[in-house]
Order: sequence, then C-alpha cells, then structure tokens
Amino acid sequence: MSPKDEDGVKLLQTILDNLPSGVSLLDKDLRLVAWNEEFRRLLGFPDELFESSAPDLYDLLLFNARRGEYGPGDPEAQARAGLERARRMEPHLFERTRPEGTVLEVRGRPLPGGGFVTIYSDVTVRRRAEEEVRRTASFLQAVLDSLPFGTMVVDSDIRCTYWNRQGEALFDFPPGFIHQGIPVEEVVRQVARSGIYGPGDIEEQVAARMAQIGRFLPHSAEMTRPDGRGLRVIGSPVMLDGRAQGLIILQEDITERIHHESMLQRLATTDALTGLLNRRAFLEAVEREIGRARRDGLPLALLMFDVDHFKRVNDRHGHPAGDEVLRRLAATCRDLLRDEDLVGRLGGEEFAVLLIHPHPQSAALVAERLRETVQAQAIDHAGRAIAVTVSLGIAELGEGIDSVDQLISRADACLYTAKRTGRNRVCHAPAQGG
Ligand code: GH3
Ligand code: MG
Ligand code: MG
Repeated sequence: MSPKDEDGVKLLQTILDNLPSGVSLLDKDLRLVAWNEEFRRLLGFPDELFESSAPDLYDLLLFNARRGEYGPGDPEAQARAGLERARRMEPHLFERTRPEGTVLEVRGRPLPGGGFVTIYSDVTVRRRAEEEVRRTASFLQAVLDSLPFGTMVVDSDIRCTYWNRQGEALFDFPPGFIHQGIPVEEVVRQVARSGIYGPGDIEEQVAARMAQIGRFLPHSAEMTRPDGRGLRVIGSPVMLDGRAQGLIILQEDITERIHHESMLQRLATTDALTGLLNRRAFLEAVEREIGRARRDGLPLALLMFDVDHFKRVNDRHGHPAGDEVLRRLAATCRDLLRDEDLVGRLGGEEFAVLLIHPHPQSAALVAERLRETVQAQAIDHAGRAIAVTVSLGIAELGEGIDSVDQLISRADACLYTAKRTGRNRVCHAPAQGG
C-alpha cells in the first residue's frame, strides 16, 4: 500500500466513523474490508469477532444465525443462504427486527468495481412512532364504533377523516360510499338526495349546509327521514392550537325521544276520561287565542256548561255510568263544533268551549243547539238509557272583557244564573245584582 493509498483509507475511515448509520463494505469475494463503529454497535458484534483479522461475511452470518438473529433454524444453513443471496450482488432494502427489539433498516448497493456497501440505520424510534400513530387511530376508531350515535370527523380540508358504521346506517349510505378523504360536500349531497332535508333544490340545500360545515360553525338540526324516523345532527368545531380546524358531527336517532315527548305532551294536556283538553291546556289555548283575536280584531266566545243534577246520575246509575255520560257529552261537543273550536274539561262535570271567530249571534245559537242535543239524546249504559240536561253560560270578548279570567268569570256567572233560574237553559248575561 503506497502512502497515497494509506491516506485514502484513512480518509474513508474518517468519513465512515462520522456517519450516523452503520456501514460495511465487502469486496467482491465478500470479505469485510471496511466498517465503522456504528455498524458494530447496531449489530451488536463483540470485539472478539474482529480481534485476529477482519471477519468475512460468512463468519458474521454464522455468528448472527447462532445467536438467533434470523429466527429458529439450522445456523449453518441460514448462514449459507445469506451468503448465497449476497453473491447475487443485487441492491436490496429491507427491515430486520433484532431479538432485543431494535428495528434496523438495511440498504445494500453493489459497488462499481465489485463488492457491496451496506448501510444500517436504526429506525426503531420511527417505527415505534408510526405504530403508535396506527394504534391511536385504531383506538379512536374503536371508540367511535362503540358510541351510541353516528359520528363523522371533518378535517381542515373539509374531507371526512373518521366515521363510524352507526352514522352510515342512520343515513342509509350505500356500502363503501363513505371512504377516507371523501369531500364532505359529496356526503351532504348524498344526504340531500335522500330527501332528509325536505323538499327543495338539492344544490341550494347542499350550499346551505356547507356554509356551516365549511366554516366549522357549531350547529344543531333535527330532521326526519323519509321513513319517518327522526334524526338530530350536532356539529361542534374541533379546536387545535386555539382555532377551529375541523368539525365533529354527531348524529342521533331521536325517533323514540320524539314519540316520548309527544306522548308526554299529550298526557300533560289532555283529560284522560274524555280526551278533551284539560283545564290548564284549555286556559293556555284560550290565552293564545285572545292574543290572536285582539291582534286581528276578531270575536271570540266562551261557553261554559255543567251537567244538571249530575250527582243523581252517579247515585242512581253508578260512577261508571256517570263517566260514560261525561264521555258522551265530550263526543257530542266535538260533533257539533267546528274543528278549530276548542273544547276542554274544566273539572268534574264542567266543560268549556271556545268558539273561534264566531259569526254574530252564533254563540247563543251554538249553546242552544248543544243544550237541545244533550236533552234529546238518551245515553246508553249497561242496557239502561240515561237522560241528562246541561246549563250553559256565555261570555264574549269585548266590552270590559279582555282576559281569560274575565271571560271565565263572566261565563261562570251566567252559568250560575242558568242554574238558579231553573237549569237546562242558556244564559247570556249574568243576573243583575246576582
Ligand atoms: P248541579 O245541577 O247544581 O250542577 O248539581 P250537580 O249534582 O251536578 O252538582 P254537584 O257539584 O253537587 O255534583 C257534581 C258531581 O259530579 C259530584 C261528583 O261526584 C261528580 N263527578 C265529578 N267528577 C266526576 C267524574 O269524573 N266521574 C263521575 N262519574 N262523577 C264525577
Ligand atoms: Mg252539575
Ligand atoms: Mg259542577
């Protein structure tokens, strides 16, 4: 070796020793001619291997095979197979996980004048981080899949990054329609086409939704599927570094809740025996109607009626017969009145009717017709015909009467007059001084 060659070797060694990866150089006969410390460190080759002379590739392969680096099997066969591969001098790139867990990236290239350079990089940390990201993603997906509602996560490019099957089912998306990175606008358009947003121009509906979603605005909406099921959709911004950079959209089937609420609403506002409005609901409705009538300058009339000597009905025929009479009276009212008129049971055997915008004098006519109809009908109960009469009082909006309380107390006063003056009659004005 000339001094010049020696300088070259020193220079090469210096370069190798300063590389961040392990490097080995094999000559064309697969003898190890150069390497660096990092190579020995990464592969865990002990000093003894390098003591007497540089090992050749077979020595290294056999050493590795014997200590189990290549998995179970005959070490010599494994070393021979390795040597065979190396002889082909083909470029290669693969990863090998060492028994103690280090993940090595092994990159080999043939050299122009024969021989081979191999670079070993420790990618353990990178691989672990990637694995961690994968695990976090699968964990998040598992969380989403176990939620009791549909979910979709919109990223900063307004594309769908996460979703769950519940959401696909709620909107009846075709299998495979939602995929990683699908533009949310396509999803919204598919939803619009299903008719969930109601009638109207599809593109206008899409534009309206995208105006909220695209700006990551919090929103909440209830909608009804064509099959009648109710959905609630809530969008909340995903805050990253202090600003909204995405949206999480939750979808919930609220059919049961809607049924429940309307059942509770019905229970809270109707009288169980007759199905009419109960006292509170009736009075609230009257209040609303008074507001409307005043605004529009339209008339309203309240009829109150009470069954005459109802106690006797109960006494003679029994309580269930009394109940049947009350039910029949409610039905008679509904039959006689227009749909828009309100009928309520104020309590016991006392009822009230609100005539919405009646024609002049028609309150008295309706009251009289009601009185006559009740008198004329025989109510059948357990094979017996029960006859009852009612007394009625009338009050109309105007002339010092402009609240529910005033309407009620005037009608009640008239009803009292009707009772006092013989029952089974209609009274329009309260008795003077009575
Ligand atoms: P009046 O002609 O003065 O109105 O006499 P009345 O007997 O109808 O009046 P009173 O207020 O003395 O009696 C009302 C009766 O109505 C007493 C009560 O037991 C009965 N009653 C109240 N609510 C119900 C009900 O839900 N079912 C039945 N069967 N009876 C009821
Ligand atoms: Mg009575
Ligand atoms: Mg009474």
